[in-house]
Amino acid sequence: MSDGDRIVIVGAGVAGLRAAERLRELGFDGEVMIVGDEARRPYHRPMVSKQLVYGAARASDVTLKSHGELDVRWRLGTRATRLDTHERVVHLPGGESLWYDGLIVATGVVPRHLPGSPRHDPRVRVMRTVDDAIAVRRALAASAKPVVVIGSGLIGCEFAASMRHLGRDVTLVGHAAAPLNRFGERISGAVTKLHHEHRAKLAMNTKVRHWISTKETFGLHLTNNQLLVASCVLLSIGSVPAVDWMRGSGLDLEDGVLCEANLFATGADDVVVAGDMARWPNLRFDEVPRRVEHWMNAVESARHAAESLLAGRGQAQPFTPLPRAWSSLYDVRLQMIGLPSLGDDTVQLADGVTGFVQAGRLVGACGWDRPQAMLHWMAELDRRLPAPVPAPVTEPVAVSTVEEPDWASAMTDPVWARQAAEKATL
Ligand SMILES: Cc1cc2nc3c(=O)[nH]c(=O)nc-3n(C[C@H](O)[C@H](O)[C@H](O)COP(=O)(O)OP(=O)(O)OC[C@H]3O[C@@H](n4cnc5c(N)ncnc54)[C@H](O)[C@@H]3O)c2cc1C
Repeated sequence: MSDGDRIVIVGAGVAGLRAAERLRELGFDGEVMIVGDEARRPYHRPMVSKQLVYGAARASDVTLKSHGELDVRWRLGTRATRLDTHERVVHLPGGESLWYDGLIVATGVVPRHLPGSPRHDPRVRVMRTVDDAIAVRRALAASAKPVVVIGSGLIGCEFAASMRHLGRDVTLVGHAAAPLNRFGERISGAVTKLHHEHRAKLAMNTKVRHWISTKETFGLHLTNNQLLVASCVLLSIGSVPAVDWMRGSGLDLEDGVLCEANLFATGADDVVVAGDMARWPNLRFDEVPRRVEHWMNAVESARHAAESLLAGRGQAQPFTPLPRAWSSLYDVRLQMIGLPSLGDDTVQLADGVTGFVQAGRLVGACGWDRPQAMLHWMAELDRRLPAPVPAPVTEPVAVSTVEEPDWASAMTDPVWARQAAEKATL
């Protein structure tokens, strides 16, 4: 990439923003254009299901900051409709097209919809955007009747906790045996207990059989024969990559965009991918391409994708992070390191810390309100799962631009984290 070139970033979420910042930090002097279909500047999405929905923050509070004026052209409220990788053009509505020399794809994921649910009813909502949170608050204001959450994963659990924060009667419906089941029995047991302590109701091992819609409420008839009545229903059953606009581009779009280890889209010399959308082999673990849907991964992959694009496909280094993520439920912090989903077995590493083991190898850890112990296990996992090649040499960052919650930003700096972990008492 040389000065005078144009880099287009599609997706104005955290990955799009951090990629643009990194391009400028590395001295790219050409044009940078960010196309995003939401009308807002990038914001702190994790607050959507927490502070924003229970009213501790307003939409204007969650915007992400950049240091100084970031020299980019914004095309917000504009949806990319098609990608032509041969002509190197992103198509926009109204017949407009944007040529590029380099493209960064960062369009994230969209919520999955539940077949059979009345998805166009304003009382049935999903939770991904600021506008979703505003719509939920409107639906909550319209009636004080109970709320039902379908889906007992992280966002479903966070939302149920937010409802209790507001004093609303809430029931979490899930087909698993317990909420957050994939994090092992100890964590899911602790989450179950916490929901009970806060008087959130659980309907587990069940699904919605059918919906009965009335003017004021929904009746949800479950497969366990329970009937729940709700004035607002949140669907939180996972998400799918926002790949529609790239169909026919020649990129491999099965579960996100398939990438090489350096985040170049497979087979493309001028397209890199970042954030929830990227499916790449993290060589720290193995050669299987996977996506990671967490904030820190979006930040780090965006910075790496920008570095790769400027370095060129031949020089770009593999992206080999140790994934880290967090969630907060009521006042409890849940932290994840590594790839717990690879585990075929679990081990208790410390009080409140579950380790995930794949064929005898520790591949991840999950901590229940144990930040100090998790710093220790992060350093330990970093040591036990070494990156196969040295991390790319990048120029020092003049100003830190990454605005994350305190403990999470501490975890982004491996040197700091290692020092802290050495001091950590278990
Ligand atoms: C409610 C919620 C709570 C979360 N909480 C946590 C948490 O506590 N901890 C954690 O680690 N992670 C959390 N996450 C995950 C984290 O927010 C994501 O991993 C991160 O936002 C991914 O960033 P991204 O930039 O890849 O995608 P996104 O943030 O989804 O940004 C992608 C952007 O691209 C736009 N777009 C899509 N298609 C197009 C198109 N065709 N043209 C133009 N623009 C397009 C989208 O509208 C969106 O604005 C949470 C996610 C949600 C939804």
